[in-house]
Amino acid sequence: MALRVAVVGSGPAGSSAAETLAKAGIETYLFERKLDNAKPCGGAIPLCMVSEFDLPPHIIDRQVRKMKMISPSNIEVNIGHTLKSDEYIGMCRREVLDGFLRERAAGFGANLINGTVFKMDIPENPSKPYTLHYADLSNGGPEGIAKTLSVDVVIGADGANSRIAKEIDAGDYNYAIAFQERIRLPEDKMAYYNDLAEMYVGDDVSPDFYAWVFPKYDHVAVGTGTMKINKEKIRQLQAGIRTRAAAKLEGGEIIKVEAHPIPEHPRPRRVVGRVALVGDAAGTVTKSSGEGIYFAAKSARMCAETIVEFSNNGQRIPTEADLKVYLKRWDQRYGMTYLVLDLLQRVFYRSDATREAFVEMCEDIDVQRLTFDSYLYKTVVPANPLVQLKITAKTIGSLLRGNALAP
Ligand SMILES: Cc1cc2nc3c(=O)[nH]c(=O)nc-3n(C[C@H](O)[C@H](O)[C@H](O)COP(=O)(O)OP(=O)(O)OC[C@H]3O[C@@H](n4cnc5c(N)ncnc54)[C@H](O)[C@@H]3O)c2cc1C
Repeated sequence: MALRVAVVGSGPAGSSAAETLAKAGIETYLFERKLDNAKPCGGAIPLCMVSEFDLPPHIIDRQVRKMKMISPSNIEVNIGHTLKSDEYIGMCRREVLDGFLRERAAGFGANLINGTVFKMDIPENPSKPYTLHYADLSNGGPEGIAKTLSVDVVIGADGANSRIAKEIDAGDYNYAIAFQERIRLPEDKMAYYNDLAEMYVGDDVSPDFYAWVFPKYDHVAVGTGTMKINKEKIRQLQAGIRTRAAAKLEGGEIIKVEAHPIPEHPRPRRVVGRVALVGDAAGTVTKSSGEGIYFAAKSARMCAETIVEFSNNGQRIPTEADLKVYLKRWDQRYGMTYLVLDLLQRVFYRSDATREAFVEMCEDIDVQRLTFDSYLYKTVVPANPLVQLKITAKTIGSLLRGNALAP
């Protein structure tokens, strides 16, 4: 029997899963409700995403080689010093990245369906198929035409508000709201951000996260995130970052305002039956950095690889236990990364004193190397013991100097 897999959602997660499945010759259906979707996002991706996902140069609008960390008292620390000449943080527009990955998956044979999945029938018998109910939007009408599709396995890659997660009762997660304005700057102001991104910390811009100015194709994305979900508070925080960066944004024109939830941790259940969640639907964004694109694509690829392996390239239907192997592999590979970033967020985003200490610490060249290596390559290379000791001493020193450890 030939395996049929439906992937719901074609952001970085869904398209990556569909590509892996289609390449293995598995009958794959990739659903996307909005083919020109421009997901609200800063669009920053690490270098390993470019190589691992074989992204061509035109996907990267800008190669950022300078990063400024800006403390609550506006002390600026430049943290790009350790980058080699061919290393950078990629900045992309999501409509471009998502469109490319989706088309590539379709090129490998995934059946792309322009439709919104609104319901899923779960079979009582484990050998029976799942039935997806969707509105086919391919004919242009706003409502679409109601259709169904039956498949053996479903991958929920439908983002933070996942319909598939609800259908399998995957449980809730806490989330932050990220708010962003895209601002077109006069040429001389834009030149400043040519290969430079800024991260601001402070109670005025976010009580539990950071605010950013990221350069995009022909504008900058200026935003902030917080778990204190309250419209008025978010408005205040956005005003905070606009005030802090005011001189650099002068003369800018707002071209888009957007907001979206960012999951704070994995859902309680990420695989139920023959349904697996990946990316934001599963809750793979990291704390501290709020990074989600690479982890979405990677979790989806690992899930799809597990399906290919356990279905013997589509010759048998994998079980729940088979699909859970993906989670085991994922947690083994990235569990420590999530733990460290969670800890960093708890320690350093606690107060303005701890944030000052954090920015001060970023001046250290070994800290910069460690931070960039783990961001760009997603491999936490242990520093040699002497360097490790120095970093630990620096961390404690910075915290003490800032009186950051006072209760
Ligand atoms: C303001 C903001 C800034 C961010 N900045 C960064 C950053 O700079 N770098 C970074 O790495 N991460 C960033 N993130 C996080 C990142 O955007 C997400 O982690 C990432 O988009 C997750 O990818 P995904 O494929 O799992 O989900 P999504 O990108 O949300 O894709 C889900 C897809 O599913 C489709 N869909 C949803 N429901 C259905 C349905 N029922 N039927 C059919 N299709 C459906 C949607 O249209 C969408 O295309 C940011 C997030 C926000 C909100």
